Amino acid sequence: MSDLIGSVANLTGYRDRDLIDSTFVSVLGDWLDPIELNLYRCVGDVSDLRLLLQAGMIKGSGMRAGDPSWTPLDALPALSARPQFDQAFGCDEPLLDLPMNGHDGPWLNLFPVWAGARRFGIIELISEQPLLPVQLRLVDGLLKIYRNQISLLDYSERDSLTGLLNRKTFDEQFLKCLDTMTGNGHAAEGSPTWWLGVIDVDHFKRVNDSFGHLIGDEVLLLVARILRTAFHHSEYLYRFGGEEFIVLLRAEHDDEAHLAFDFFRQQLSAFAFPQVGHVTASVGFTRLRLMDNASGSVDRADRAVYHAKHSGRNQVHSYEALVKAGVLEEVNNSGEIELF
Ligand code: GH3
Ligand code: MG
Ligand code: MG
Repeated sequence: MSDLIGSVANLTGYRDRDLIDSTFVSVLGDWLDPIELNLYRCVGDVSDLRLLLQAGMIKGSGMRAGDPSWTPLDALPALSARPQFDQAFGCDEPLLDLPMNGHDGPWLNLFPVWAGARRFGIIELISEQPLLPVQLRLVDGLLKIYRNQISLLDYSERDSLTGLLNRKTFDEQFLKCLDTMTGNGHAAEGSPTWWLGVIDVDHFKRVNDSFGHLIGDEVLLLVARILRTAFHHSEYLYRFGGEEFIVLLRAEHDDEAHLAFDFFRQQLSAFAFPQVGHVTASVGFTRLRLMDNASGSVDRADRAVYHAKHSGRNQVHSYEALVKAGVLEEVNNSGEIELF
């Protein structure tokens, strides 16, 4: 009993989602000794959800790492290709004791995972025997604690209007991105390049002045929805201030990052907002540097936004490209050490 309380204490002691996920899997694994246990997050477009492994364990080989969050969607298994998973994801109750190989087992058990109104994942638990009632109560209890923990994190990390991440969590994620670039991060694979984009809605004051604050809020909500659909699931989306958003994304080159931001810009400008009509945004982006700091890189992207605003708005500009073209002067405000 005290062991169980200790495990639960571990589960509630973290504020980091990856750690909560792996602790949850390890606690469940310790108590149920399954053949295999996986926690998946369902990501991507609602019409084509994919299974991203968050954490897993296999009997005899222990814990296994999840898929890197930037795995391309089409490299992940489709939820629709696994009918039992698809069914479980839409259910409120788990699907239990599905025989995997005749009547002697093993047995597949699928538990839908949600937090608040947000459904986000599935637990796959393969057991040698059908789960006993006492084991089911344990899974149910641990799942409730896990969901509460995720709901609390959602509440403290997300902006209440748009549901995007809030400013508070930005610095931490920024450092994690840098970590993957230096190879210190556990998720390092090759040397990814990260880009930070600042998105500022054009003439938003006019929207408020002409249609009122409530309609203004509605526009922000829809802009956030367009952001979510325009960017890949692994890209981090923040509401940074009133009508300002920040995106952290991975791309190999300036051109690729430019395409991603410009895709969003086009999607936004093509959207007809109820009553308001068309709304545009100006976007500036910059490449993260090894010794960067958050405010330095936001400042560089802001300079590119400023240029976009003064060149007619509804545009995407790269800070590095503007410096190269001699339009902006390089500023070394990031504390970066220049190596030659
Ligand atoms: P620009 O193209 O130069 O960016 O023009 P702008 O009008 O968007 O620029 P500015 O930054 O001066 O105005 C932003 C406005 O956003 C001011 C404020 O009234 C409005 N705003 C800030 N937060 C919110 C919010 O949460 N809801 C609504 N409805 N309006 C907001
Ligand atoms: Mg602004
Ligand atoms: Mg603005």
